[in-house]
Amino acid sequence: MPQSFPLISDHKQPQHWAITPNAGALTELAEGIWNCALQTNQRPLVVLSTAGPLIGVRAALEKNRPKDLPSNIAFLPQVISFTDWLEAAPGAWKFPKRQSDLERWLSVFVNLRKHKTLQAWFKAESEAGAWGLAQAVIDACDALSELVVPQLQNELNTLMDTHSLDPEAWLKKVELVLDQAIAKAYVGLSKKVVDEESAVLLAFWRYLTNVGDPVIRKHLAMAAHMQLAKKTAEKGRSTARPFIWVQTADPKPVDQELIACYLSDYAQYAPVVRVELDWQSVALWSEALCGQDAEGAIATPNALEEQQITNNIISSGHDNWRLLAARRFEELAWATAKSIESHLIAKKKNIALVAQDRLAARRARALLGRLGNSLRIRDETGWKLSTTRAAAAFDSLLGLIRAPKEGPSASVLLEFLQNPYFDLSYTLQKTPEVCKGLIAQLEDILVVSQAKSGWETFIAAIEKANGYASIHGSSPNMQLIALIQFVAKLHSGWQHSIFDCSGAYTQLQTNLQVAGMAQRLEKDAAGKQLLEVLKRFDLSGGPYQDLKMRLPEWLSLIKTVIEEASYEEAGKEAQATLSILPLSSTRLREFDAVVVVGCDEQQLPAFSEPPLFFSDSLNRYLKSSTITAQYIQQARDLSQLLVSCKHVDLLWQSKSKSGEPLRPSAWIQRLQVAFKKNPWEVEEVKLQPYESHSQPIQMPVSNPDWDLSIPTTVSPSAYKALRDCPYRYYVSSLLGLRKAKEFEEGFDASLAGQTLHALLKTFFQALKTEEKKSHSKIHEGDAARRQWMIDHLIQFSEKEFEKLIAGDARVLGTLRDWQKQVPSFVDWQLKRETEGWRYHDAELPVGFTLALTDPDGIEREIRIAGRADRFDIHQSDDSAAAVIDYKNQKIKKITDRAENILDDPQLLIYARGANENAIAARLPGRTVDQAEWVSLKADLDKGEEKIVRAHPVEDMPDVMAQFSDQIVKDLNDLWARKPMPAFAPESVCQYCEARGICRKGMW
Ligand code: SF4
Repeated sequence: MPQSFPLISDHKQPQHWAITPNAGALTELAEGIWNCALQTNQRPLVVLSTAGPLIGVRAALEKNRPKDLPSNIAFLPQVISFTDWLEAAPGAWKFPKRQSDLERWLSVFVNLRKHKTLQAWFKAESEAGAWGLAQAVIDACDALSELVVPQLQNELNTLMDTHSLDPEAWLKKVELVLDQAIAKAYVGLSKKVVDEESAVLLAFWRYLTNVGDPVIRKHLAMAAHMQLAKKTAEKGRSTARPFIWVQTADPKPVDQELIACYLSDYAQYAPVVRVELDWQSVALWSEALCGQDAEGAIATPNALEEQQITNNIISSGHDNWRLLAARRFEELAWATAKSIESHLIAKKKNIALVAQDRLAARRARALLGRLGNSLRIRDETGWKLSTTRAAAAFDSLLGLIRAPKEGPSASVLLEFLQNPYFDLSYTLQKTPEVCKGLIAQLEDILVVSQAKSGWETFIAAIEKANGYASIHGSSPNMQLIALIQFVAKLHSGWQHSIFDCSGAYTQLQTNLQVAGMAQRLEKDAAGKQLLEVLKRFDLSGGPYQDLKMRLPEWLSLIKTVIEEASYEEAGKEAQATLSILPLSSTRLREFDAVVVVGCDEQQLPAFSEPPLFFSDSLNRYLKSSTITAQYIQQARDLSQLLVSCKHVDLLWQSKSKSGEPLRPSAWIQRLQVAFKKNPWEVEEVKLQPYESHSQPIQMPVSNPDWDLSIPTTVSPSAYKALRDCPYRYYVSSLLGLRKAKEFEEGFDASLAGQTLHALLKTFFQALKTEEKKSHSKIHEGDAARRQWMIDHLIQFSEKEFEKLIAGDARVLGTLRDWQKQVPSFVDWQLKRETEGWRYHDAELPVGFTLALTDPDGIEREIRIAGRADRFDIHQSDDSAAAVIDYKNQKIKKITDRAENILDDPQLLIYARGANENAIAARLPGRTVDQAEWVSLKADLDKGEEKIVRAHPVEDMPDVMAQFSDQIVKDLNDLWARKPMPAFAPESVCQYCEARGICRKGMW
């Protein structure tokens, strides 16, 4: 039976009223509030302990407005949440300045520096962990303050009388009262805590508690409201507005005492009604009905109460409650989305998804994305700002700032440059056309040269690419250097060890501005919120503006604050709304249908993480929330949900990750038992399987289309690809498919190889110049020549590697390995010279042209060309020349390569190219009839005599003839579009980019 609203009396005592939290709760509450207005002829002030039901209460008041109201109460009664009511306290502007969360974290940081006893605690923590711990310390300190500060309420009320005096003097007084109370309470509490952890926490509490803390401000605000009520009452009690306190959830014992006491005092000045929830006809389980006993345990029901529960269950029925079990996670998410869809089809407009299992709810949300704009999804569980694109872009800037002084890794650099909020044309002050493709070009250069880290390395790679472009007739891109210089300048601004907080904030804002990110973030919903969060770091004018911090500490503080922030989606009009919320947010709210996902025994009930520092018993002493209280509250919330909402689907995963069966929550099982006469069946959810017949994958063979154009130039590596595996050639050269380029771990050999090639060319050119100087030491005998060569080769190596080492210190190892090779390499060169060979030229483009007739009868010219590492000429034979290919490989690999020279005929291509165009190869009158590979990684352990550094191409004239026949046949086949099968030994497939396409390993 619903209780009727009490008759407002003049007894200066709070009056109690209870409403039944079922489907009619809001109407009952609204009627009661209007009743109060009519009785007192005043517009009541209604304060809700939680904000969730606010809109529902206002709507119910509007709907149930009595007719013919007197004009002075015709306006809706004022309904406000407790938090907003505190904010609206009269004279709040004079209160101590509110400490922001950030300032409170910083106060933990400052106190840590001041007090050695506290430092030991944080020692083991990383920067991020330490900030997390700081948050836990603050929460724990608030819990302690909640216990102590109510004892000050009388003093605070008295202080309010002097509120209008000089605000500064008043604030000092408040501080004094607080200090005294804390000192007193500290002594009392210290006696009660025995463990070291709590002792440290108490010490923190003593140092941290400040008049700007939310708990202190809360009490000041309550005192200010009381003061106002008192002043109004002094004019005559009939003018005082009634105060209706609606307790929407079970309060913590400490709050319960505080509110009871406050309402009693308030009742001296105005009518007060305390509204609570009556679980008598709603509770579906005994704990929901009986709550806690005096000891804080779950109360045991008596026979009458048990009967009441049975009656409640019977009258609730379960016709529109569905139990849905899914075996796997994906099935659960799919079933959740399907059940929401079914409610939408049934024209339900306001649906709730209770996210007991947050992961499944998120997945279901993603599945529902396909419904488009017709469904508005409001996520009240708090979507983290850090998961947005804007935060990821900002994080890329932090990654850059954090990079060591030599410069970031290429991945960090590219991540920053490729973030969508970075404005390239604004940064370079160039038109978008000029900037088009610039970052992709930079990525290509860095990947090809494997320039993995460091400003010097990046600049060297770009200069090399620009140099190559100018030699080969394309234009070098100077914007690339400007871009690197811009980012390097931005990065160099952060190379101090210590920062003051306001200076660091200003610099960060400047960075965002110059990179054009601030402007772009401003235009984006999440970006705007991110900028707002960053504004919290503007500590100028505050107590912490000059606080000094190390850069990693400051950066991890920023990351932690962003991690804590929630992203609020902008609302949009839609045909239906889905609210994703926690169970507690369904209290006193109306929905057309509710879907609860995660109703298994592990997730329903779900308990909040226990505070880091408090045991359950210490919590009880502090009168905070306990596990029992949370358990009871959830039983009540679920009872309320099931009883008030007509359509409820309860879903869970019936198998855990480890394959163990998972049962539904004990509350569901108890209801199933109670419904044994009319069983409440579980529906097993199954994804609809797709039928198909599998067919074993065959080795793929491509038949190039006649429209597919065939390249008319073939490089040695492309020809090798064609020989190794025609399918691979088809994918890479005919279709032009490339794997996304990436940087490999560690320093890559190809950059070392390129550098070695470059320095050898410089060295041999220098040797040629030196030989022309008649007084040079190199003419003073073999030993002197050898020494000159060793010294200069080592010197050139140092110089060429210098930039790479500045960018990545790991390259030093590669240089040292090479320098160990130098004496043996020089010996090989000298030996070659005694055989009559002299270095002639290096890095020369050579090639030859083949004339073919394609199947259409059209004459085609195919150019086979590449760049030869080195040509030597013979001193005593005017017609002899040799081609050399340097390999940064062991000799074993080279001899293996030599065995299959027809499949890898790079040297043969260079030899034929030089012979067919001796002028271009700068070898007029000579024929290349020798070719060899030279290892730059010879095995030095074998001893000087046994070191094998070079391997010649054997039977050169014969092999050349075979090669010439073979290439004509291969290219004829290619132009005839003959089938191109996938076949290659595993050694080739291992590094093949087309492996995912040919499905090697599946056939
Ligand atoms: S993985 Fe092997 S078989 Fe497949 S395309 Fe590459 S080289 Fe050919």
